[in-house]
Amino acid sequence: MTTLLIRGGSLYPADDEHRVLPDGAVLVTGDRIAAVGPTEEVEATLLPQQRAELRVLDARGMMILPGFVNPHWHEMFAMRFPFKGALRSPSDREDRPVFMALGGDVRAISGAFDDFTDLITDLTPDEATAIARYSMWTQLRSGVTTLGDVGSFNHPTALAAAARSLGMRCSISTWASDARCAPGETRFRRTRDADLVLAGIEEVVRDLAGDTTGLLRARPTAVYSLNMTDELGAGFAELVRRHDLPFATHVGALRNEVEVSRTYFGATPVRRFADLGLLSDRFMAVHCAFADEDERKMLVAANAHISYSPAKYGPAGEATVTETRAMPHFRRAGLDVSLSTDGAPLPVGGMAENMRAVWQQLNEMSADPTEVRPTDALAMATRIPARGLDWAGIGSLEPGHQADIQLIRTQDWRYLLNPRPLEGFLALGGSQDVDTVLVAGQVRVRGGRPVDLDESDLQAQYLDALASFSIRRLGVDPGVVAQWIRRATNTEGD
Ligand SMILES: [Zn+2]
Repeated sequence: MTTLLIRGGSLYPADDEHRVLPDGAVLVTGDRIAAVGPTEEVEATLLPQQRAELRVLDARGMMILPGFVNPHWHEMFAMRFPFKGALRSPSDREDRPVFMALGGDVRAISGAFDDFTDLITDLTPDEATAIARYSMWTQLRSGVTTLGDVGSFNHPTALAAAARSLGMRCSISTWASDARCAPGETRFRRTRDADLVLAGIEEVVRDLAGDTTGLLRARPTAVYSLNMTDELGAGFAELVRRHDLPFATHVGALRNEVEVSRTYFGATPVRRFADLGLLSDRFMAVHCAFADEDERKMLVAANAHISYSPAKYGPAGEATVTETRAMPHFRRAGLDVSLSTDGAPLPVGGMAENMRAVWQQLNEMSADPTEVRPTDALAMATRIPARGLDWAGIGSLEPGHQADIQLIRTQDWRYLLNPRPLEGFLALGGSQDVDTVLVAGQVRVRGGRPVDLDESDLQAQYLDALASFSIRRLGVDPGVVAQWIRRATNTEGD
């Protein structure tokens, strides 16, 4: 078994005590953490035989953090052309607030989400895997060692293959919709057989039960309460009980959702999940700013997990935290509140950017710089979401835990004479500063580059797959695609 010592860095284990060790070390044996502490102390524990075959990673000038756990993400890179992607005008001056903006055109959203199902089916297996690999690489490169899929524009088998090839962890789901709320109507329209949707996630659960890598898990998710009939919800409840699994859904995402849910389904979204038997301490409510008074009480009583993505909302025109103040409310009520990136066809803010957003926004809302300290923001991106995914042994650097670790460069003007590098990172750093990423003791990223893979191959395979799917299935003009691919290839290395 290989022994690796990461030494001399500013160590933030993200443990329960929020410890900070200015000169810290992590000793890794095989896939696990053997010791964590001040460098001198960890080195003193080394046995003569360990010293002889020791590999050392010098972390001076770096922070040592747990790998980020991103519990709410979607693989969406197949839609890079049409869906708020490459086909937009270079100028933002003609942009109008639509779709998720101004409280949300939630009927249109439920329609678009429901349409995705048939498009996803038409990705070929090769296209699906090439797209997933590039998309997931951008997460791994940003320090994410564990992803929580809440429904992707991709095949679950492709996500599994991509996670295995990149050597990162992923909790995998399906794009589950069996209904839509059509404009001008007063009741939901059933679009698919709930049993077929349930059979899809059941297959993922069964396939991943045999995973021997330790990297993959299954978690059933409903993509949106407005895309879920009661039959589908009841089926999810039965399935998670039978397989002993957590569950996640988008809920309370937008201001207009409660009214539409009442009209089309006869109840508010969280009330429906409660009535269907899904609300529990293993329920992850994603977004959730627009839970009404009754729903907030139910979430608190159930000790549900809340995950939200503050770096995403402003750019998408989604109103959430400031309008309802739900996140400070849930935190003070003692719920686990974690950060996540969400997903889009173009990269959105990473976990680092979400840490900055929660630190800035919640403190500003309360005029109190101790409402969310930098170490709280770190816990919300590591230890807390690991609990939300129900994934033991990850999310903090502690003996016996999996060695999922990242090193972040902190030796330049942004950090001069600052005894708190994490604070400097939140103020001026970001995803691009992640230097090294280990998953289960294996170095996967070094110097910001993949260790076992060629980054330009990953990108070229992505662009090929994107071009063929966009032309064949999305009706994008082949000339426009060719022009973009040329431009992407020509600028490479500049
Ligand atoms: Zn989402």
